[in-house]
Amino acid sequence: MLVARTVSELRLALETAQSPLGLVPTMGALHAGHLALVRQARSENTTVAATIFVNSRQFGSHDDFASYPRTLEQDLTVLEAEGADLVFVPSDEEMYPSGCETRVDVGRIGQVLEGQFREEHFLGVATVVLKLLNICRPDRVYMGQKDGQQCLVVRRMVEDLNLETELVTVSTVRDLDGLALSSRNALLTDKERSAARVISQALFAAKEMWESGVKDADRLKQHARDILAGEPLVTQVDYVSVADARTIEELKIVQGRAMLSTAVKIGSIRLIDNVMLDTD
Ligand code: AMP
Repeated sequence: MLVARTVSELRLALETAQSPLGLVPTMGALHAGHLALVRQARSENTTVAATIFVNSRQFGSHDDFASYPRTLEQDLTVLEAEGADLVFVPSDEEMYPSGCETRVDVGRIGQVLEGQFREEHFLGVATVVLKLLNICRPDRVYMGQKDGQQCLVVRRMVEDLNLETELVTVSTVRDLDGLALSSRNALLTDKERSAARVISQALFAAKEMWESGVKDADRLKQHARDILAGEPLVTQVDYVSVADARTIEELKIVQGRAMLSTAVKIGSIRLIDNVMLDTD
């Protein structure tokens, strides 16, 4: 497995790599959720590249950039074990040399939900993903449904900017108690970790309500909020949303595919999760 630290090293390695190429962008602190992406990329492509870059530009001033977990050596070991061929680990300076000011704005889809609570978050996400796609030129890029809005933002960008890559969305990997795996889970205390299962419990309970025939979005959201409110370590609920799965427009009545999503603070750690309301 080749570890490239600069764009030119990576491009040189890619010159002789066999296509199709699958790309898995990450911020590191890898867990089984990330590895599901790598495995799917491995099974569908001849060459697999992963990137590890904690992208300062997608963190707002109140976010946790400084405390975000970083476990590079361990990440490289697991990527090698999963059969990745290349890993791109650029420095901040390599990705954003001085004077680099272009930003990619996908419009409304990036301004709601996460975009409303994390200032400029999706400008940072879209910009770094476009840079990584241009640097690597993959046939397929793999992203997790765990970050549902992020997938929609990247899908919009790929379509709007005529990018020649296919976005493959991979199902959310959960712990045994239902908590969606996230690098930020490592920042939870034992008590907070145990309390955090309320997030998926709330989402799945609302999904069950929808399955039993309730289509009124306010009732579904209130049911999820009531469950979250029952956990004292939930210190903040930024939103509970029922939105169209493609446009992310907030719905009154669930018709067609919808995404039920939430962002919650457990203690001081902000976690997000979502489930799809669809008939598949
Ligand atoms: P991150 O390192 O958090 O930026 O995540 C890198 C990629 O892994 C993103 O496409 C995430 O959506 C995906 N991912 C993170 N957690 C999970 C999970 N629990 N299940 C599936 N994919 C995930």
